[in-house]
Amino acid sequence: MNTQDVFDLIKSHQIEMVDLRIVDPAGRQHHVTIPAVEVTDELLEVGTPFDGSSIQGFRSIEDSDMIMRPILDTAYVDPFFSVPTLSLHCQVFDPNGTRYDRDPRYIAEKAESYLKQAGIAETAFFGPELEFFIFDDVRFQSGQESSFYFIDSEEAAWNSGSAQDGPNLAYKVKPKGGYFPVPPTDALHDIRTDMVKELMAAGIRIERHHHEVATAGQSEINFRFDTLTKTADNTMLYKYIVRQVARRHGKVATFMPKPLYGDNGSGMHVHQSLFNGDIPLFYDETGYAHLSDLARHYIAGILLHAPSLLAFSNPSTNSYRRLVPGFEAPVNLVFSKGNRSAAVRVPVANISPKSARIEFRTPDATANPYIAFAAMLMAGIDGIRQQLEPTELGFGPLDKNIYDLPATERAKIRAVPSSFESVLASLEEDHEFLLQGGVFTKDFIQSWIQLKRSTEIEPLNQRPHPHEFHLYLDL
Ligand code: GLU
Ligand code: MG
Ligand code: MG
Repeated sequence: MNTQDVFDLIKSHQIEMVDLRIVDPAGRQHHVTIPAVEVTDELLEVGTPFDGSSIQGFRSIEDSDMIMRPILDTAYVDPFFSVPTLSLHCQVFDPNGTRYDRDPRYIAEKAESYLKQAGIAETAFFGPELEFFIFDDVRFQSGQESSFYFIDSEEAAWNSGSAQDGPNLAYKVKPKGGYFPVPPTDALHDIRTDMVKELMAAGIRIERHHHEVATAGQSEINFRFDTLTKTADNTMLYKYIVRQVARRHGKVATFMPKPLYGDNGSGMHVHQSLFNGDIPLFYDETGYAHLSDLARHYIAGILLHAPSLLAFSNPSTNSYRRLVPGFEAPVNLVFSKGNRSAAVRVPVANISPKSARIEFRTPDATANPYIAFAAMLMAGIDGIRQQLEPTELGFGPLDKNIYDLPATERAKIRAVPSSFESVLASLEEDHEFLLQGGVFTKDFIQSWIQLKRSTEIEPLNQRPHPHEFHLYLDL
């Protein structure tokens, strides 16, 4: 797409406003809006200034000027404003015209170039599966308790739309019974369909949608895989559209990994594969689960670096409440053909050379997709460069239920990390693999650790937790 194509779009859709967006390190989108009549070639080619010191994780106050420059290929007609609006993702630049090192999209773009430069593969494909909850939005219902704050699953089922919408009182989703009875039990069907229609209108190819396992309004909508940066763009757009459509229906959508105690959490499993042209590099008919040597090395890289990789793929204190046994979330640092408790699963149904891929199940959607996908690719590349073998490193394959193994075997299996503090500490030690080719900078990694400790871990640690009242009030 060139500037003329953007002007043509503005004309053909009678666009009145143009919305320019950037993504901050934590993964929140920010925007500035410009009347379409003021949009010039220069604006589209050079960009528009913004104050980087007000964006968490970007600049300090003394050095705040930055430029956001639209990426023309990302233009789409945004249906959530009162007037016809064209929205575009932007790249972030320093005022001197160089790319900004802490722009998450830049990190993703560099990871893709590094894969090629290192001669490993031409293309990395990424396919995330995002799960989320749809809850009642208390702003639309006066006098009602919020259903998404420190509450357990049964109470939430009662409070949530799926249980409480008038005619459906007799069709509550049973605990962990959300996958996947037809309506009226599935009271969210039409909301998801509305989400799917808006996602398709924005150019995202949708494969399917369904209710997920959790009692209270858990949903999943799957979109088609694509190249790394494009998929991260799609992920941002997906989250935006899901939230906006929920709001249209008086609901709130959340990608928080574990909003409800005692019920399934929401993951963002990430399918990954490497290609040269149209030659799939992860397939070998003779290999375990039809995996090539390259795929096994890639898996070993992911599992070896998992303790620090999770600092980007599971970057919230809430992430670690999800990674516990009993809820289909991964708990073991192993790979396996079918086992959903394995951090890396190899989907084997309908396998063909082109669909050969690995599924990293640990991540959740509190991750910034640009940074998390880049970090996963860098871990995989490191495994390939060092020709790491998962079996030699004790990472499986493990196709049995871990609880059926003899205690000595079970003791050898490493668990996924259990706290956000621990993965940030691991990242401090283990980040050389991320710095290769200048993909991540030391500055970015240090600022990430500092930001997450000071704005998330410490404030949470210093607050009394509601459950502490249950435990200690009478002591
Ligand atoms: N919700 C589960 C998780 O936390 C995954 C369910 C599934 O396999 O789709 O990862
Ligand atoms: Mg799922
Ligand atoms: Mg999955």
